[in-house]
Amino acid sequence: MRFYLETLGCPKNTVDAEMMGELLRQAGHQETDDIRRANLILVNTCGFIRPAREESYKVLKELAAQKRHGQWLIAAGCLAQRYGDEIRRQVPQVDAIIGTQNWPDIVHLVEELLRSHEPVSLVRPAGALVTSVTRRAKGAATAYLKIADGCDASCAFCAIPLIKGPQRSKPLADILREAEELVAQGVREIVLIAQNTTAYGRDLGLRDGLPLLIEEILAHVPHLRWLRILYAYPQDVSERLIELMARAPQICHYLDLPLQHGHPATLRRMGRPYDLDRVQTLIASLRRAIPDIALRSTFIVGYPGETEEEFEGLLDWMTTLALDKVGVFAYSPEEGTPAVRLPNHVPPDLIAERYERAMLHQQAISLQANQHQVGRELEILIDGAGDGLSVGRSYREAPEIDGYVFLLQELPVGEFVRARIIEAQEYDLVAEPLHTKQKG
Ligand code: SF4
Repeated sequence: MRFYLETLGCPKNTVDAEMMGELLRQAGHQETDDIRRANLILVNTCGFIRPAREESYKVLKELAAQKRHGQWLIAAGCLAQRYGDEIRRQVPQVDAIIGTQNWPDIVHLVEELLRSHEPVSLVRPAGALVTSVTRRAKGAATAYLKIADGCDASCAFCAIPLIKGPQRSKPLADILREAEELVAQGVREIVLIAQNTTAYGRDLGLRDGLPLLIEEILAHVPHLRWLRILYAYPQDVSERLIELMARAPQICHYLDLPLQHGHPATLRRMGRPYDLDRVQTLIASLRRAIPDIALRSTFIVGYPGETEEEFEGLLDWMTTLALDKVGVFAYSPEEGTPAVRLPNHVPPDLIAERYERAMLHQQAISLQANQHQVGRELEILIDGAGDGLSVGRSYREAPEIDGYVFLLQELPVGEFVRARIIEAQEYDLVAEPLHTKQKG
């Protein structure tokens, strides 16, 4: 059978989709980029926030409209886990539903579909154990490595614990095996992901498990060039982790610390840590130990009850922290979360206005941070090349979420080149390569 795979949402979803693809390939099915030639159309949906759900329904409906006789349409992922019945109602052409807890059963689901020719659903409750499957890197120089799934935090706005259940960490031996296979396939950059990477191993009885895990990975794959950490929970970043990041040359001097807001009253309502002094101390420690560190965060605007004063407190906080990169999200009410029951929801047009203001506010800060890079010589991992240009990233840019470094020359994709930064924009940089071979 030929299958066409489309994945939506975050890097964690991408990993699940790639693993499903790998399982289907191992079972003898072939992947195709041409949807018309596919027997199976597999969509790994996202159900995290309303816009993501709307996008998932839209893609499913579009694919359903193109579906030919003899093709099967399968909905997988977060939306399928939580809203399987709604998918069937809105997109009756969907033949099978498979939840986030069941993706290792994808081959079984396909067999069942072919055998019975009846709609199939495989949705275990959130929190069921997920087995580890080795993924293939498909020739890319960068790969995500998911170290845990689910989350034990209780942020009042977030539906992830309802969708994914409590945290389950992947056993150390499985992670080491995956890292080894990825490096053997030519991966140069591994990006560690989980809902909260700094909580790694807590459910396995480990204390401060992330630095321990990273030390093991680095010992196991000493030739790995870059290891990057995403989704660190601020309160869980330990001195040991900071010390390791400062010491181990393979760990990118980059940390993503979702802070969500900058006013203690809003943070309290969000069920997030609200001691701003503690966050500031942490950021100062990171910058002291790792002076060239690039810090990223995400903030939500328009949370229920957010007053103008609280919102301005957030803008001041963004100025104070002067983070290199920030993602801003407009609050979206998620069914079943405590936040939807809070009073004083902010009207959508005011949320949109605050979103614009926060984005503009941060743009000036990020531009300044990027301007400080001009003149620096950095290693750039080339992600793509064509039309006389290359696009890549330094340690300061995570794949898919941050900007790029543009180079005015075609360079070998998947290779590191040394380059001097010559121009800065709000999100991107321009660099000139130093002593490099041209592509081809
Ligand atoms: S830590 Fe992240 S995934 Fe977990 S509940 Fe909070 S926002 Fe959601």
